[in-house]
Amino acid sequence: MKICYNEATMMKNASLEQSMELCEKYGYDYIEIRLDKLKDYLDSHTVENLVDFFRSHELKPYAFNALEFISFRDKEGYDQILADFDFLVDVGLKIDCKKIVTVPSFSIGDYTISEIEKETARALKDLSDRAEKVGFKIAFEFCGDPTCSVNTLKQTNSIIKAVNRDNVGIVFDCFHFHAMNSRIEDLYEVDPGKIFVFHIDDVMDLPIGWLQDKHRLWPGEGAIDLDLIMTALKKIGYGEMASVELFNEDIWEWDLDKAFKAGMDTTKKVVSKYFGND
Ligand code: ZN
Repeated sequence: MKICYNEATMMKNASLEQSMELCEKYGYDYIEIRLDKLKDYLDSHTVENLVDFFRSHELKPYAFNALEFISFRDKEGYDQILADFDFLVDVGLKIDCKKIVTVPSFSIGDYTISEIEKETARALKDLSDRAEKVGFKIAFEFCGDPTCSVNTLKQTNSIIKAVNRDNVGIVFDCFHFHAMNSRIEDLYEVDPGKIFVFHIDDVMDLPIGWLQDKHRLWPGEGAIDLDLIMTALKKIGYGEMASVELFNEDIWEWDLDKAFKAGMDTTKKVVSKYFGND
């Protein structure tokens, strides 16, 4: 299982340029690039600088994060998503990064599960059509938050089945799985080929419904039953990559070297109990 770094982990204090250098230094195989960080980077660099970096280093890009709130949008909101999609495709073709993470909408009001499924599948199919023309994949990430329109793995599995496209799969994030009490049986239902990205993390031992992204901790240092999850991933046959993704504001204050080293060490410790580094 390859080790990847997600830029949310040191979002506040590390630029994309710093993150790429530190990932290389601490031996990460991949980096997930954030859309906002990429735009910041391009204020003072060119896409060719990015191409040169990945050409001359071991580190490779894995996916872009994220097109947010893809469902239940008005025309203006969706046009912005499509503009960002085109921008990511343009950069992704040059650096060979062809996966885009997408996130469902929050606080949409009293829509039923089936209405949400219909609308989310519609949006994913639209993005799938556009992605197919350029050889990209769409990775859909449910969020374990009470206000998110898609907040369990069960709901996600049903949507992905309804979409039924080769280039649409899921982001499986341990925090989101734990935070709304998703069931391990639902992970056993997942086709391993449909896990496009695996986000690894841990969280403070707080109640379901209160947990937020900011409560995330380094893998193995919190309340998530990562052994249960890693066992399930291994049994279903997923072993491609684990991307460490925190949004912890206290950790954002850490010294960068210390944080990148901690991300690698804690992730490796959890992963290596189940998988080798290949
Ligand atoms: Zn995630």
